[in-house]
Amino acid sequence: MTTTAYIALGANLGDPVDTLLDAVEALRPLSATQDVALSRFYQTAPVEAEGPDYINAVARFPTVLSATELLTELQRIEHEHGRIRSVKNAPRTLDLDLLLFGSEQIQTEALTVPHPRMHERAFVLRPLADLQPNLTLKQGRLSDLLVAVSHQPIAVLGGDEEEGDDDYAQ
Ligand code: AMP
Repeated sequence: MTTTAYIALGANLGDPVDTLLDAVEALRPLSATQDVALSRFYQTAPVEAEGPDYINAVARFPTVLSATELLTELQRIEHEHGRIRSVKNAPRTLDLDLLLFGSEQIQTEALTVPHPRMHERAFVLRPLADLQPNLTLKQGRLSDLLVAVSHQPIAVLGGDEEEGDDDYAQ
């Protein structure tokens, strides 16, 4: 049996695009099909944190792993990219969060799924919408949640405009 996992990827040190591309390769063996669906890449200013802009994306793949096993693998990949865990919200080379694991609701000391803050972050919701625009979370439809975060500045990497304000307010 496989479960569909959604992973948020973020990086803001070194060459963040390269880091994200490397991370996608590292995720591939965790996928039951060896294949990973990937959103566009987005550029965002750090939220409650210092440092250069982040590059963010979301990946989706089916996996035979349990959520706990998957988290262990995500943390291994983070460590392999030399993530600095010195202070809370410190700049990091790679951050991997488990957003969704099928329809499972998980609340343990190590893991909360769905990710508790995903619904309020444009840098998660925008790439998520690339992969699954009709998704509904506990907090509401993705399209409605996107309206609520539309004031958060975020740009599609390689796109020519900074997006924000009324982009989704129609
Ligand atoms: P952060 O520093 O924000 O990446 O948080 C990492 C910590 O959050 C780890 O100790 C994880 O055990 C915990 N955690 C709880 N829920 C999740 C989740 N859905 N995805 C990733 N880490 C999680």
